[in-house]
Amino acid sequence: MDAARQSILLVDDAPANLEALNAVLGADYELIFATSGQEALELARDQMPDLILLDVMMSGMDGCEACRRLKADSRTKDIPIIFVTAKDHEEDEAAGLDAGAIDYLTKPIRASIVKARVRNHLDLKRSHDLLESLSITDPLTGLSNRRHFDAVLETEARRAVRSMSPLGLLMCDLDRFKAYNDYYGHPAGDRCLQAVAAVFRETFRRAGELPARYGGEEFAVILPGATLPIASLLGERIRQAVEARRLPHARAESMPWVTLSVGAASMLVTAEAPASSLVQRADVALYSSKKTGRNRVTCAEEL
Ligand code: GH3
Ligand code: MG
Ligand code: MG
Repeated sequence: MDAARQSILLVDDAPANLEALNAVLGADYELIFATSGQEALELARDQMPDLILLDVMMSGMDGCEACRRLKADSRTKDIPIIFVTAKDHEEDEAAGLDAGAIDYLTKPIRASIVKARVRNHLDLKRSHDLLESLSITDPLTGLSNRRHFDAVLETEARRAVRSMSPLGLLMCDLDRFKAYNDYYGHPAGDRCLQAVAAVFRETFRRAGELPARYGGEEFAVILPGATLPIASLLGERIRQAVEARRLPHARAESMPWVTLSVGAASMLVTAEAPASSLVQRADVALYSSKKTGRNRVTCAEEL
């Protein structure tokens, strides 16, 4: 299977219609089939197709309702939807566009028109996805950028308030990195940041954990559900992992390699104690790690 192939979810309660679309699109795209609105919602969430072709007239949940639900779900709201309507139901087109569809096709389908419209919307989807990923990614390291970090922190804070669960955070800063740049040069410094970013990616791969490049040589990690002991443990894990990479640093303080100072914090987020104070606490803890010798983890509570 070609990983670059885009996928389309085809939804129609008449199998003959799905077969007709399969004949037109099957050679060029990964096709997923659903025969009800309910099944379409589930498959859309699971498979995240690039485009959905949705029949309007279906028994059970009709196309308009399925469309509204897909658009109301943050996970599926950006998947473009093309309505498929019978020729003599023009009012369906307006209803479909109202419900959030981007375009419509009329049945019986014409191969050339289906192909052209589908191609068009998939090209738009690809540009949209590319722009979106560029806007949230730090170009040097490929980690989430500061902007994405801020957005995710807000989302996670809201979730933490609702579920009354703690939110953990690590603020991390490379030790003596100015000296590293002065000694090895800026391009080598960039490569070092990339190597450290890779360690963050390998260390924080559980669902929900978000490692980000916070600024120059600072990294931050959002840890949903993490209590202070857990955040502290994970802080120690990343500190050790960076040390274990043995990236040479001739101007370092105690060991001849690149090391990381960490501040760990966790709290129950509320209106009075917002996520910004979590960042502040982790920052103060990080500062304390720097003051007390670097290459260590300090917990906000210990201060
Ligand atoms: P400390 O142990 O107290 O953190 O000392 P430090 O030298 O790491 O801290 P300082 O804030 O004085 O210096 C940070 C350095 O990080 C300075 C800057 O040149 C370097 N830096 C920031 N962003 C980049 C980058 O994108 N590439 C490279 N090569 N260096 C960077
Ligand atoms: Mg710094
Ligand atoms: Mg530093």
